[in-house]
Amino acid sequence: MPQPTRIALVLGIRPDVIRASLILRKLRESAELDLTFIWSGQHYSDNLKDIFFRELGVAAPDVELGAHGETDAEVSSEVIRRLYPVLSELDPAAAVFLGDTNTVLGSLAAAQLNIPIVHIEGCMRSYDWRMPEEKYRTTIDHLSDVIYAYFDEYKLQGIAEGLNPESIVVVQNLIVDVLQEYYFARKAKYDAIATPAFFNERGIENGGYYLMTAHRRENVGNGRSLEAIMQLVGAADGTVYFPASYRTQRELARLGSELPTNVRLVDPIGYEEFLTLMAHARGVFTDSGTVVEETAVLGVPSVQMRRSTERPQVSDARSSVKCDPAAPESYPVEKVLDRLARLVGTTWEHRLGDGRASDRIVEDLARRARDDGFDTHRSSRMHLDTSRSYGEDGLE
Ligand code: UDP
Repeated sequence: MPQPTRIALVLGIRPDVIRASLILRKLRESAELDLTFIWSGQHYSDNLKDIFFRELGVAAPDVELGAHGETDAEVSSEVIRRLYPVLSELDPAAAVFLGDTNTVLGSLAAAQLNIPIVHIEGCMRSYDWRMPEEKYRTTIDHLSDVIYAYFDEYKLQGIAEGLNPESIVVVQNLIVDVLQEYYFARKAKYDAIATPAFFNERGIENGGYYLMTAHRRENVGNGRSLEAIMQLVGAADGTVYFPASYRTQRELARLGSELPTNVRLVDPIGYEEFLTLMAHARGVFTDSGTVVEETAVLGVPSVQMRRSTERPQVSDARSSVKCDPAAPESYPVEKVLDRLARLVGTTWEHRLGDGRASDRIVEDLARRARDDGFDTHRSSRMHLDTSRSYGEDGLE
């Protein structure tokens, strides 16, 4: 039996653990791949990190980089600085990253060491160059040797930028796998959590409240947007339960304005509690990429509070209303709430995936470890003509 191939997976924030939970488990079980799980340290408190490892049954990271900082520049440069010697020592066949955060800028350390880079959740584009996330995801996609994209439309976006079609593998959306495994397959457990006491303790009524999150820098870093968000949710016809990120709490305190009386602000909560609250809400107000997908799969309507999105599928499915808090005059509160109310009680097909994305990724990583390797850049980079076909060596 050949030695398993060493790969490193580098993650750093709450939704990374959620999205990659099944990949992590399957990589640990793989006889062909030897995983080193590295945590950047971008999120580090129990309620943003460890509780998710416990609830999702994910083994703790093998390496904790402990990269913290006050600014994005400090965090991302610390990730690069601390990851470099770890990768240099490990010398993995590939370094795998997910998403579009400061942690994925750690891929520069892999690039400097010429270690092949794999990007999960690649080729998403909002086409809004004001968003640092758009710059991050474009950067890592162009550094990557292998990209796992959720849908064909994302692959086409990558090809349109000149990325090698052979390096982009379409796998569907990981969040469907996660909800099938941790929610739908354990429905009885969630029904048992959702007792009258559960809702009473939180001051909400089963099915009669809204859930809310807001953490995106375009909303939180801009007082006018945060005020517009509060005006919107303040006009909702029910209590708005708001587990708020610490940064959002700091910004709200700095603004000094009173919260609307129907908003109940709490610290960030664990996944089981959040899933229970999502599933029983009348609707969800959020600027999170993951939450709009989760609500689409759970059958709960949402309002996506951001100017542009790299996740248009939830609007296509008619599960979500989008509004830009920075332009409240274009999105009057009554209109947004009316459109949300019209979604309540409707059903839709989410078309986000079949629950096999994690399998596809782990199988493809194992196949590359066995056969091709991870370096897909042997051929010409002139792939803009998508009608051309390529042989095994990447040549026409
Ligand atoms: N979430 C959670 N507790 C909370 C808020 C969110 O478990 O208090 C989960 C949520 O279900 C989703 C993920 O965290 O899976 C979203 O994280 P976030 O909004 O920070 O990131 P984004 O999706 O925008 O990348």
